[in-house]
Amino acid sequence: MSTDNASRPTDTRPIAVVTGASSGIGAATARRLAAQGFHVVVGARRVDRVTALADEIGGTGRQLDVTDDESVAAFVDGLDTVHVLVNNAGGAKGLDPVATADLDDWRWMWETNVLGSLRVTKALIPALIASGDGLIVAVTSIAAIEAYDNGAGYTSAKHAQALTHRTLRYELLGEPVRLTEILPGMVETDFSLVRFEGDKERADAVYEGLTPLTADDVAEVIGFVASRPPHVNLDQIVLKPRDQASARRNIRTG
Ligand code: NAP
Repeated sequence: MSTDNASRPTDTRPIAVVTGASSGIGAATARRLAAQGFHVVVGARRVDRVTALADEIGGTGRQLDVTDDESVAAFVDGLDTVHVLVNNAGGAKGLDPVATADLDDWRWMWETNVLGSLRVTKALIPALIASGDGLIVAVTSIAAIEAYDNGAGYTSAKHAQALTHRTLRYELLGEPVRLTEILPGMVETDFSLVRFEGDKERADAVYEGLTPLTADDVAEVIGFVASRPPHVNLDQIVLKPRDQASARRNIRTG
């Protein structure tokens, strides 16, 4: 079943919501959660992609721009019971030193990763509590625990997204909601293509000579998290390719 209208999914499967599901980690996570028995509500700005994905996995596709209040309100309309929320929508723009920071790039990163996740989380906290066994997964990054040259726009946004999520872990103590942060290293998706404004050569070079993680590698971990019993909270999971020891330290042999 797929619909781009706001309406309540009508089957009896538990509901999982995945933001940024039009590509990469979000799309792979939606497929994984659907295979595990969830009715997955998928959102992104490219509605054609989420509608096609919803058709494929028997879920619901809705347009979503996490930077827009009205879009988020329409996206969550009718979702009064939600078991899993995966805050995945996000990414990076540019790779500039602080001294020459592009404020528009910074604004995009903060609006999407930080305020976007906050907006969707706020809107769904009541539905997650109402489920009696809710789970919020934040896809942050190793950029949420590291600093690297020219990366401050992204690392600061991912730190802020992560700190908001970790604070919520404290604030929801006593409620039936678990919170897990997933911190991936290098994953081969459209991430670098977006970061470098469609420059494919520059994006491909990021993954050259090493074996990065795939979107499925990350989705599998999120699926594992979502399949733990209600008393088990996996707080933080850092996953990197074997060839990558930190954001800036890796080995390229291939
Ligand atoms: P991706 O393939 O570029 O996917 C990004 C997703 O975010 C897309 O579905 C995009 O959909 C969505 N998105 C962007 N802005 C949005 C907005 N305003 N409203 C709703 N959706 C929006 O990259 P990815 O690697 O899968 O990234 C997923 C998450 O993983 C991001 O938070 C990223 O920071 C994080 N991450 C990635 C890596 C990596 O190496 N790839 C490592 C660590 C963490 P639309 O464009 O259709 O809206």
